[in-house]
Amino acid sequence: MIQEIVIVGGGFGGARIAKILAGWQEGAQRNIHITLIDKSRFHTYNPHLYEVATAHLPEAFAQGPLPLDFFDLKSSAIYPLEDIFSDELNVTILEDKVLNVDFKAHEVILEKEGKHPYDILVLSAGSETNYFGNKGLIERGLPLKNFFDALEIRNAVDEAFANTPKNKQVKIIIGGGGFTGCELAGEMMGYFKKLEAIHGRPDLSFECIIVEAADKLLGGASQWISKRAARRLENLGVKFKFQSPIKDVATGEVILGSGEKIPYNVLIWTAGVKASDLSHELLGVKLEKASCMIVDKNLLIEPYENVFGAGDNTYCIDEATGKSLPMTAAVALREAKCVAENIKRVILKKPLLKYKPHSAGVIMPLGGKFALLESNGLRLEGFIPWFIKMAVSFHYWATLIGWRKSWEIMKKGIEIYKQND
Ligand SMILES: Cc1cc2nc3c(=O)[nH]c(=O)nc-3n(C[C@H](O)[C@H](O)[C@H](O)COP(=O)(O)OP(=O)(O)OC[C@H]3O[C@@H](n4cnc5c(N)ncnc54)[C@H](O)[C@@H]3O)c2cc1C
Repeated sequence: MIQEIVIVGGGFGGARIAKILAGWQEGAQRNIHITLIDKSRFHTYNPHLYEVATAHLPEAFAQGPLPLDFFDLKSSAIYPLEDIFSDELNVTILEDKVLNVDFKAHEVILEKEGKHPYDILVLSAGSETNYFGNKGLIERGLPLKNFFDALEIRNAVDEAFANTPKNKQVKIIIGGGGFTGCELAGEMMGYFKKLEAIHGRPDLSFECIIVEAADKLLGGASQWISKRAARRLENLGVKFKFQSPIKDVATGEVILGSGEKIPYNVLIWTAGVKASDLSHELLGVKLEKASCMIVDKNLLIEPYENVFGAGDNTYCIDEATGKSLPMTAAVALREAKCVAENIKRVILKKPLLKYKPHSAGVIMPLGGKFALLESNGLRLEGFIPWFIKMAVSFHYWATLIGWRKSWEIMKKGIEIYKQND
């Protein structure tokens, strides 16, 4: 009998699980079929989105030596799921939104295609921007969660530089001094300087402020990362406003908890994240912090025996620290490997594997060819960590689409990204 494995979400977790299972030799003999359902046609490499948000517009190169190829930019961060799995005969890609799951009938309920049955289900629908219900933020804060958000930020910043009178500063506010906010701020400083030249504006006619509720950057990271990141961003010209929660947002004005008002031309919101809205719909599933679904030690979503979870939409406690695992690609990939193994074990009727969290460390790019790296006591800053970050990206793509294609998209991507450096 063919076992139908349905994976919801073709991101870091879901695509990896599908890839591992598709290549499972025993699986082919045992007749498994995988349906990977995603509301988007594309798999997104989020760690490159800050580069997309700061890449040059085609007009910028109208007379220059390097015409920007929009498709190169696109393929450096997103790739069609159909193409990733074009060689896998037992994988079907379904572009549809999962609205709910009927756990009794073993069916996922889809927006376009009705219902789809499963024997084993994986929920890896990722996360969404959390505006904490603030209407002003929802209406005016630009998120950075997908490729199109990144393009919108790029366009909004370019327009602000084009339309703001030359004797007035362009003011960019980034809400949130976490990894996304800091990485974006670092890369933006180079982009702003290019935009000044393109729009014939005077030097330093812009201001970029990170507004942060805590008293430092990167609250969850080590002191070393937090201090070095602040120093690097300060050297690039980024300003900070700490202990300043954003209370509300009006047109052109951010209102802080203290009542202070800060003017802005572009507001980017990176300070809130929560599990995909799908988690709220699921009957019997227990939710924890940021609406994440609780998983047990085998990464099964309680209370179901044939439903696994992986990635940002799960709440998984690290027994060693007692803390929940962060929403990172590294965690999603590690969980994906464990889920894929456990699906094989369910099919082979073997005992399930216990998930063992492990942190390989942090690499954080901060403008140009500069990054910070902290891993198992090793601390590096400068070009080498940036190079390692690129090597990690190259390896990531290679294991999904092959070494040759990965090399092609990395080469083209770096050609574009390095223009700000
Ligand atoms: C700008 C940015 C930079 C980042 N940089 C890093 C980094 O440098 N290093 C790092 O480790 N992590 C980074 N992250 C975090 C990392 O991207 C996430 O932790 C990772 O993507 C989680 O993988 P996932 O599979 O859980 O979710 P995702 O990769 O987000 O995939 C979820 C998928 O589910 C689909 N989906 C959602 N809801 C539905 C539905 N109802 N029906 C069908 N499909 C649905 C979505 O379209 C998406 O394709 C970054 C994130 C962002 C936003």
